[in-house]
Amino acid sequence: MQQEQYIDELINFITASPTPFHTVAASVALLKKNGFQQLREDEIWNERETALPAGNYFVVRSLSSLIAFCWQGAGSNTNTIKPLQMVGAHTDSPSLKVKPIPVKLQQNCLQLGVEVYGGALLAPWFDRELSLAGQVWWLNGLGEEQSTLLDFKQNIAIIPSLAIHLNREANKKEGNGINKQTHLVPVIGLSNDDEELFFDTILKKQLNIDADAEITGHDLFFYDAHPPVRTGLARELITGSRLDNLVSCFAAVQSLISGEADMNNMIILNNHEEVGSVSTCGAQGSFLRDTLEWLVPEREKRLAMVRTSLLISADNAHAVHPNYTDKHDPQHQPRLGQGPVIKHNANQRYATSGSTAARFKMLCKKTQVPVQEFVMRSDMGCGSTMGPLTAAEIGVETVDVGIPSLAMHSIRETAAGIDCWYLYQVLQRFFRG
Ligand SMILES: [Zn+2]
Repeated sequence: MQQEQYIDELINFITASPTPFHTVAASVALLKKNGFQQLREDEIWNERETALPAGNYFVVRSLSSLIAFCWQGAGSNTNTIKPLQMVGAHTDSPSLKVKPIPVKLQQNCLQLGVEVYGGALLAPWFDRELSLAGQVWWLNGLGEEQSTLLDFKQNIAIIPSLAIHLNREANKKEGNGINKQTHLVPVIGLSNDDEELFFDTILKKQLNIDADAEITGHDLFFYDAHPPVRTGLARELITGSRLDNLVSCFAAVQSLISGEADMNNMIILNNHEEVGSVSTCGAQGSFLRDTLEWLVPEREKRLAMVRTSLLISADNAHAVHPNYTDKHDPQHQPRLGQGPVIKHNANQRYATSGSTAARFKMLCKKTQVPVQEFVMRSDMGCGSTMGPLTAAEIGVETVDVGIPSLAMHSIRETAAGIDCWYLYQVLQRFFRG
C-alpha cells in the first residue's frame, strides 16, 4: 500500500470508529477479510489436547478490546523458543458518555445528560455539531437478549457556548471555568409539549426495533460529527477526532496483516486506557495474561517466550507546539512530520529503557524512518500510557512510542500524515523480522 492510499484508509477507519466498540468491529472486519479466525474466550481452545495449530487468530473481550495474532507455536525447547513481537495500543478516546437516564427538558430544549469520559479538553466541545454512537443491549419480543452497534452518523446535538455579552470574562484565562454537570449538557432538539420523552423511545426508533422491545443497557458516547480531514497548503496535516489513539490501532492492524508468515506476532488493542486501564478489558486487567496462558499453557515455556519478546506500546506523543515552545524541554522537542517519538520517563510513567529505546532506534534505522525522543520538562508532571501497565502485568520488555501530535485530547487533534505512514512502516518491519 502506498502512502496516500494508507492515509485515506486511515481516515476511513477513524470515521468508522467513533467508539471503542466500533474500533473493534472495524478491526475485526479487516482481520476477517485477511483470513484471521475468531477464537472465543468461552470455549476451551486446547480441548483436543494438542496446541493451537499455527495460523492467524483474534479474540475479542467485552466487545471493545481485541487481541490478534499470527501464531507459529512457542518452540519445543530452550534453543527453539520463538519470541513474540507485540504491539499495543488503545481503542478509547476522551469523550462525553450518556448517563443511564439522560433525557431532560430545560426551558423548551431537549437535552441528554452526560459524564465526562477520560481527560477531555472540554472547551473545544462547544459549538460543534455532535453525533452519538456506541453499543445498545435490548430484549426482543421473545425475551431474547440482543446487542447492537449504534451510530446516528449525522449531527444531532450541540453544546452552545454562553454569548460573550453574558460573560464578559470569557476570553480571560480565569473566565473559562466549565462546570461538567451544568455547562456541558448537549441539546438534541426542541419540544413544546411537556410530555415526557424517554431515551428508550429515541433508541428504538433509531435501531428500528419493535415498540414492545425493551432497552436493557447502553454505552453511548457523543462524538464530533465532522470526519477527520487533510489540512495545510500541501495537505500534509490530518485534523480530526480520536487520532489518539486510532492512528496506532490502524497501524497495528495493518502491520499484523502484512507481517511475515513464520513469525509469532501479536497486537493488543485495549479499551479504558483513558480512565486508568483497570477493568475487565483494560491493560491492567487479565486479557493479555489469559490469552498468553491459553496459547502456551506450559508456564516455563511461556515465561521464556515472554522474556525473549518485545512490546512496542504505541500511543500518541506531544509534538512541540509552535505557540507554546516553552512547554517542552529545549533538548526534546519532537516536531510534526519528523518521525515517531520514543517516550522516556525516569519514574517509569513510560516503560522505555535504554535497551528498548536502542531496539526501537535500530528498527527505525533499518526501515529508514527518522526517530525523535521525548522527555517531559523536569518541572512538569508526566502523563502515562498502557506500556508500563502491560510491562508490569506480564514482565515483557517494553518501549513506549507514538506519532507526534498537537491538541491531544481535544475533540479535534492535529498530526502529520507522514508520521502515520512512518509508524506503519516501522511496525510492519517489526513484524517482518
Ligand atoms: Zn493515548
